[in-house]
Amino acid sequence: MSAMIYPTSNFAEQDKLCIERAKGVYVYDSNNKQYLEGMSGLWCTALGYGNEELIAAITNQLHRLSFSHLFGGKSHSPGVALADKLAAMVPIEDARVFFGTSGSDANDTHYKILRYYFNAINKPQKRKIITRERAYHGVTVASGALTSLPVNNRHFDLPIDALNILRTDSPHYFSSHLQGESETQFVDRIVANLESLILHENPDTIAAMIIEPITGASGVIVPPDGYYKKVQTILRKYDILIWVDEVITGFGRTGNDFGCTTMGIKPDLMTFAKQLSSAYYPISAAVIPGYMHDAMVEQSSANGVFGHGYTYSGHPVGCAAALKTLEIFEREHIFEKAAEAGVYLRKQLEKFVDHPLVGEIRGKGLLMALELVPNKLKNTRFADGKVGAFAQRACQEHGLIVRAVAGNSIALCPPLIISHSQIDEIIQKLTKALDDTL
Ligand code: PLP
Repeated sequence: MSAMIYPTSNFAEQDKLCIERAKGVYVYDSNNKQYLEGMSGLWCTALGYGNEELIAAITNQLHRLSFSHLFGGKSHSPGVALADKLAAMVPIEDARVFFGTSGSDANDTHYKILRYYFNAINKPQKRKIITRERAYHGVTVASGALTSLPVNNRHFDLPIDALNILRTDSPHYFSSHLQGESETQFVDRIVANLESLILHENPDTIAAMIIEPITGASGVIVPPDGYYKKVQTILRKYDILIWVDEVITGFGRTGNDFGCTTMGIKPDLMTFAKQLSSAYYPISAAVIPGYMHDAMVEQSSANGVFGHGYTYSGHPVGCAAALKTLEIFEREHIFEKAAEAGVYLRKQLEKFVDHPLVGEIRGKGLLMALELVPNKLKNTRFADGKVGAFAQRACQEHGLIVRAVAGNSIALCPPLIISHSQIDEIIQKLTKALDDTL
């Protein structure tokens, strides 16, 4: 197959996979080979594939109103209904919702909204954003600068300093603790570093800290107990807003409605995408509290208009897909079922604890990763950072899609509708793939 998709890396022949169709938790390639989609596509197909109810909701909306926009006082019923629904679900008071089409653009929206809001309340100096090492928040200019993975920003010369972005430690105990350091000592050290950074920069110049409750793309990092409590205490002390990026962790993924519930974070701003529509249609949401919205509305009267929005902000078909997704989540008790499936998945994964390649099993709910540690073996054939890709390929050969993340880890993020027998199938395939990787 000719590759005219631009731009792409030079992938090895055995890594190429052309997916043609899908049903439930399975996808099929152009040779009709079946794969269990252990990654929900890219952490997004919560309700699996070919859900007839969702397809009907989308086609009905296409027949009824295929497009209308949200500029200049215009709205439409699926947009209004979805904003109301989301506002009622999130742990933010008097929440207001701004729609986009991707996690990246929603994070860029938040970045700009923070500027607009602090200008509106006459604190224009409050403009810096703290992000963490290993963070992933997207790839547009602002969200790409908030992302800390070198591959996403090293070669793009993003204006990180001009964007006033500060970096603090990743809470990845496994790879970042000092020799002999306990989890508590590790947390205390990195929280002290955070406070030093804030004091050094001057708290009055810092608007917010962006947080993935559990980071996905950089290896499914679950911070040690106590980390978020201490981070929040510091942020509240210095009047710094907590911006929670729920693009992966939102909607039942971690065993609760939101990742911030699982990890005990009280957010000021939230970002959603991916599972919001179960990936049946691109849609994202940047959610803020009413008091920020009100201050911005007042300012917009003075400025003429709030000059931010995308053509496809609140696309009616995306809103219809999201509304139906949320309805199915609720009606079918998907979050509760996913939490229970997550407990089962973890129990099965624990069987790998003594596997000669596995260094750590981590995650929450149906968001899990295995850290592969080739140097546990005496004679490893893997350079650091290469084993994940090999294991991913081995899984693919056995009909299981996983994702190599952060070099040595493989992530598992199956659709929320996965059954116990399908989890058993994941484990069987993974066992074979890990043995091939030895
Ligand atoms: N934020 C997080 C936590 C993500 O994982 C991602 C994508 O994986 C994004 C933002 C960016 O979302 P998108 O790829 O839809 O732009």
